Amino acid sequence: MKSIVLPGQVTKAICETCGKRVTATYSYGEFHFDDGLVIEDVMRAVCDECGQPVAIAGQSSHRLRTALDDQKHKRTTLRLPQELEDFIALELSRAGAHPGHEELYFRALLLACHRQEKKIGALLKRAKDPVLSRPHTASVTLRLSPKLLEVVESLRNYSGIQNLSELLRRLLVLADTEGLSPSVQAETARLAIAYA
Ligand SMILES: [Zn+2]
Repeated sequence: MKSIVLPGQVTKAICETCGKRVTATYSYGEFHFDDGLVIEDVMRAVCDECGQPVAIAGQSSHRLRTALDDQKHKRTTLRLPQELEDFIALELSRAGAHPGHEELYFRALLLACHRQEKKIGALLKRAKDPVLSRPHTASVTLRLSPKLLEVVESLRNYSGIQNLSELLRRLLVLADTEGLSPSVQAETARLAIAYA
């Protein structure tokens, strides 16, 4: 194959450690970023003299890009009442998605808020429901992309609610109201197909 490098192929490259042009040999292995991030299974050429990586094959650049993108995601654990976790499962089932795919639901929920942050922020501020005072016995782990984090930031600004868990719990209550429910359901169904 001409687009793919196989282990054992050699190339000429400048090695910064050796300070000269060297012969380097390709193999799959770890790639270390300066900040400590380590990526596995990268096809890289290492200097035959000192073993330092001197080049990365084009076929592996997607791994580096994905890893850097992942770093921009925010991982968060949301504590919520069991009733709200059940609501998420119910909504996912209705949309034909796996009831355990909670992350998909939150993605749909936040996408449905996009460009309506001002209106929804005001509703969040006033949101009241007995379910909100139930004990937070369930938890959901979420990975929020930079795009979704922007929506969250806007909602924070317009609602004045800084606590992310509180904001998302109230958003779940709104997702069961006439105003937001149809668009969340449509987004959930769309994503359920996209991730099927
Ligand atoms: Zn070297």
